[in-house]
Amino acid sequence: MTYQYWNPKMETLPRPDLEAWQLRQLKNMVTYALRTPFYKKRLTEAGIKSEDAIKSLKDLNRIPFTTKHDLRDGFPYGFLSIPREEVIRLHASSGTTGTPTTIYFNKEDISRWTGFVARCIYGTGCDKTDVFQNMITYGLFTGGLGFHAGGEEVGMLVIPSGAGNTTRQFRLMQDFGTTVVHATPSFLLHVEAKMREEGVSRESIKLRKAFAGAEPYSEDTRRRIEELLHIDVYNSYGLSEMNGPGVAFECPNKNGLHIWEDGYIAEIVNPDTLEPVPEGETGELVLTILCREATPILRYRTRDLSAFYPEPCSCGRTHRRLHRITGRTDDMLIINGVNLFPSQIEEVIMSIKEVGNNYLIVIEKEGVLDRITVKTEVGPTIFMDDARPLNALKERIRKTLQASITINPRVELHESGSLPISEGKAKRVQDNRSQDI
Ligand code: AMP
Ligand code: ZN
Repeated sequence: MTYQYWNPKMETLPRPDLEAWQLRQLKNMVTYALRTPFYKKRLTEAGIKSEDAIKSLKDLNRIPFTTKHDLRDGFPYGFLSIPREEVIRLHASSGTTGTPTTIYFNKEDISRWTGFVARCIYGTGCDKTDVFQNMITYGLFTGGLGFHAGGEEVGMLVIPSGAGNTTRQFRLMQDFGTTVVHATPSFLLHVEAKMREEGVSRESIKLRKAFAGAEPYSEDTRRRIEELLHIDVYNSYGLSEMNGPGVAFECPNKNGLHIWEDGYIAEIVNPDTLEPVPEGETGELVLTILCREATPILRYRTRDLSAFYPEPCSCGRTHRRLHRITGRTDDMLIINGVNLFPSQIEEVIMSIKEVGNNYLIVIEKEGVLDRITVKTEVGPTIFMDDARPLNALKERIRKTLQASITINPRVELHESGSLPISEGKAKRVQDNRSQDI
């Protein structure tokens, strides 16, 4: 395997130097934070009146956590640390779990962010010979402009195609010889299914890589996309509170996502006690941004569940790796008392090869019990008018789900392309229970 580094010095910085850098940056962030109405109060109450209170990285513990709720309370300017005239851009979270939150950038913040995204892209082997189609929402969502700028920084030809409009996406790929795309994993699966439906041959496009992120997906889904499209898929993790894309990304080893520790301090805590979990165990990811002056956010509880890989990566980067996000502390479903993440269902159904590319989990109350229905599309080899194999497949899906995650769902099979798809993050769960209470 060959590895290329966009910023060789920073990506391979020895750990003691990386930690010294983090301490310097953390102090700087505390200085900026103390200029915001929110942190002035919060940090002063915690006895942190200046950056001098932070003497080592251990002092991070003295800083209180920040939650999504705090960010909403601070809307619109409670987290702004610089004069309004110095701000050149704002972005807002897509509001997967409620009203949006706003993040501001000054000129240097944008350039640092772009550097991190470029680092992710270049690290997968891309360079200026590539044609990059950014098939994700532009606008307030950070994925569009974030990847756009990173792609340009690497020198690729960037096609700002945005999300949706699948037929036009193939056309662009064919016309301009697209070699790399960025999309949500669900949109990639949709594109592949549509290609088959419209008879677009794999040979007519030059695609070889995809960056897939913005929503959780399983290793099986990655493999499925890779096999169907004959491409390499790299997991891309980010969140608008921490700039957006460019927080953590896979290197060519595709075994965990390097979190850029010169831009972020990552902690993994038990979401109930907020104490660090032993290294390697799963918990809630807590992030402190080190690279954004205009909106410093300290010890942000992401609600994303992950774990550190304790061993160093053979690619030579010294930045630790995170396990792919397995879910969020707040998308956990409780089905008749059993805790369940949608990703667990996905993992099971995507490992069944006759299952198609799209699915939906519907939860309803039936009497006092919760009833879960898994609706999946069928793959192209299954004919909808032949009942016997359909029933056999249904039964197999049900039994596999029951054996591996102890739920006993109703299974519905739908024709390929018939379940709703969304242009942004896929909505995989429809929970109708609250209406019944
Ligand atoms: P947003 O702030 O709208 O960009 O949403 C960020 C959230 O999307 C994160 O906190 C995660 O829950 C989710 N997300 C983003 N990238 C990934 C990924 N690669 N895997 C799993 N979840 C992701
Ligand atoms: Zn690596």
